[in-house]
Amino acid sequence: MGGLSADFLIVGAGAVGLATALELTRRGARVTVLDRAAGGTESTWAGGGILSPLLPWQYGDAVNALSEYSRGMFPEWLARQEAMSGLDAEYLTSGMLVLPPFQQALAVDWCARHGWRCETRPGAELLPGAAEALWLLDVAQARNPRLAQVLRGAAEAAGIRIVAGAEVTALVVERNRVSRVVTTRGDCSADAFIVAAGAWSGVIPGLDHLAARIFPVRGQMLLFKLAPETLPCIVLQNGAYLIPRKDGHILAGSTLEYRGFDKSTTDSARRDLQAFAAGILPALRDLAPTRHWSGLRPGSPDNIPLIAAHPDYANLYINSGHFRYGVTMAPGSAMLLADLIEGEPPAIAAEPYAAFAVEASQSGLLV
Ligand SMILES: Cc1cc2nc3c(=O)[nH]c(=O)nc-3n(C[C@H](O)[C@H](O)[C@H](O)COP(=O)(O)OP(=O)(O)OC[C@H]3O[C@@H](n4cnc5c(N)ncnc54)[C@H](O)[C@@H]3O)c2cc1C
Repeated sequence: MGGLSADFLIVGAGAVGLATALELTRRGARVTVLDRAAGGTESTWAGGGILSPLLPWQYGDAVNALSEYSRGMFPEWLARQEAMSGLDAEYLTSGMLVLPPFQQALAVDWCARHGWRCETRPGAELLPGAAEALWLLDVAQARNPRLAQVLRGAAEAAGIRIVAGAEVTALVVERNRVSRVVTTRGDCSADAFIVAAGAWSGVIPGLDHLAARIFPVRGQMLLFKLAPETLPCIVLQNGAYLIPRKDGHILAGSTLEYRGFDKSTTDSARRDLQAFAAGILPALRDLAPTRHWSGLRPGSPDNIPLIAAHPDYANLYINSGHFRYGVTMAPGSAMLLADLIEGEPPAIAAEPYAAFAVEASQSGLLV
């Protein structure tokens, strides 16, 4: 490692931007990360932190190749960032119980082919009253706000410069290269630029042609507080989930809403999420949530992120559009992009993540 000598400027200090910064720095680059806010306060803060696709057998190869690659490196990668930062992201292999309906034969076959431990068993063994369920033993989680702090701390320890409050308002292009970005805190130049601005990657002036490729998808969450270990594992049913944290907090999520950049929360989502939560854990029926929030996922057709050199600008790269799985995919995406930048053969095929154009049939709303 240590072969990169260029200066990189990354737009966006979420999980994807910081993971990319850490990997490039590990390979010898000098990296600055700009964020219009503090960094780690958008989707990376708002998410559930489940470290796998919810039902991987429902996704295509491109999603699973990247998420499996990233999942495989996640524990060691995270331990390295925790050691550098001195902080704890609360990584926990809590397992996930999938309640009916689920495609049992498909799921069991997929798990067998991908080395996932999976059992069908009476859900009641883990959760009183639960029906026959699919038990995925290896599903892990991290606690998003803590993960964001870990990545930020590790980045600072690695000498990465993070500039908060710097919104990129334009890319300045000269002879097919980005020469600098204009920000609310002044202009910044670098040898190469990486856009990792989450749901906003397609609305940065100069990149508006990506708006159909990367777009916001709102997700609302509720947070409850019960005694630790009230809920023994993640529970998933009909696309909604409960996630137990170590200290007894339980997240109930999440909605999938196409409302542009509107980050408000709604009473109807609160009612629906609480009804779902109470159906799993009756103790949540009359308990007021301690918090209700929404975040904007960087949506993409078929959940396939864009991790590639921009075809029109020689020194511009995109690492964005991870939609529902940007935390899961962060280390793998960083590794893939760093390999592409260095000209190293990547461990997984890079082509699926290089499709800048959106086919008409995909124009937006696949999940
Ligand atoms: C409710 C919900 C539940 C989720 N659950 C999971 C889950 O269980 N597992 C999982 O893996 N993923 C989950 N996700 C998805 C995951 O959180 C995202 O895919 C991931 O956080 C995306 O990271 P990011 O760094 O690309 O974007 P973000 O975290 O949104 O970061 C983008 C950054 O770019 C900055 N920025 C934007 N525009 C500019 C600009 N012009 N100039 C400067 N800075 C700019 C923003 O301030 C922000 O800090 C969930 C998301 C939500 C909302």
